[in-house]
Amino acid sequence: MRNAGITPNTTNATNTADEAAALLAVARDVTLVAHVQPDADALGSALALGLALHRRGATVRVSFGAPEQTPESLRGLDVAGLIVPPEQVPTQPDLLVALDTASRGRLGCLADRVDTAGAVLVVDHHATNERFGTHHLVDVDADATAVLVLKLLDTLGVPLDEPIARCLYAGLVTDTSCFRRADPSTHAIAARLLATGVDPELLTRELLDTHPFGWLPMLATVLGRARLELASAQGLGLVHTTVRLADAADLRREEIESVVDLVRTTSEAEVAAVLKEVEPDRWSVSLRAKQRIDVSAAAAEFGGGGHRRAAGFTAHGTADGVLDRLRTALHHAPHCQPSPRHGDISGSRGL
Ligand code: AMP
Ligand code: MN
Ligand code: MN
Repeated sequence: MRNAGITPNTTNATNTADEAAALLAVARDVTLVAHVQPDADALGSALALGLALHRRGATVRVSFGAPEQTPESLRGLDVAGLIVPPEQVPTQPDLLVALDTASRGRLGCLADRVDTAGAVLVVDHHATNERFGTHHLVDVDADATAVLVLKLLDTLGVPLDEPIARCLYAGLVTDTSCFRRADPSTHAIAARLLATGVDPELLTRELLDTHPFGWLPMLATVLGRARLELASAQGLGLVHTTVRLADAADLRREEIESVVDLVRTTSEAEVAAVLKEVEPDRWSVSLRAKQRIDVSAAAAEFGGGGHRRAAGFTAHGTADGVLDRLRTALHHAPHCQPSPRHGDISGSRGL
């Protein structure tokens, strides 16, 4: 039995922020879920909305399918202790809100709650969003899911305070590569968030600029293994490397995820790929493009997804085998279309 309230929308259409907020306004019990291996946009968005609903008196929990522990760099965002392990998510949640999650599968072990929940609100900005809920607030032009959450909070009339603003700022700063790819309205939102007392330097250091010493030798090994293929990616250049389990045995995921941001700076390559070994012969691959190639299309060939300039997938086989298939996928990947907003060649924003 689905929740009463607004009309469910199982087509490709998007509900308005008013409709989505109306659903949240009457909810007494809300489960907010982020995608597996949550980043600051997914978890920050879930926690910001969770904090606001908690303050309004609802019973609230926030969860994600994997890993077991909250990433260390994001722990400071959960000031009210809203995060619970997946086992503590009810088997039939009243209202499930999925944030920054393009498909049901990206919820990992919590994906089954989509079928049993009373209602499912999907709040997301991925172009590949599959509209797997009963209600959808999806805007592919939003720089981050956090932007859509702020729209919901404004509609609900929730006053912004520092803990909520910090969660939203975390999503904005990470999904826009530290505002390099933020549009003017996102800069204006950032100014609003900072006015609540968020310390951008401290927060950004925690999120992006703090690594244990072991990060440096890991980088030396992994970057030393990088290869540049000028002829790949339709002659625009591919740079790639692998992070083996043994390279990062004692390191956090944060250290491993940071590698692609260094590799992608290679001037001779349009596309960067980092193959991260998850278990022997299983790889989680991060793809980045500068501006011309749509890497989400290449990722989709492996069953993955993401945005035009930042995408990912998982694959089985040897590193060489995965790379071979990736070269082929990049060979026929479409080019990004010029953005109507900026008149330049630009991909979807954010992660
Ligand atoms: P990452 O390289 O992990 O930072 O991810 C870049 C973008 O690709 C993000 O929008 C992710 O949500 C998306 N992405 C990464 N891995 C996958 C996957 N296995 N399936 C679908 N989307 C993915
Ligand atoms: Mn994300
Ligand atoms: Mn995002």
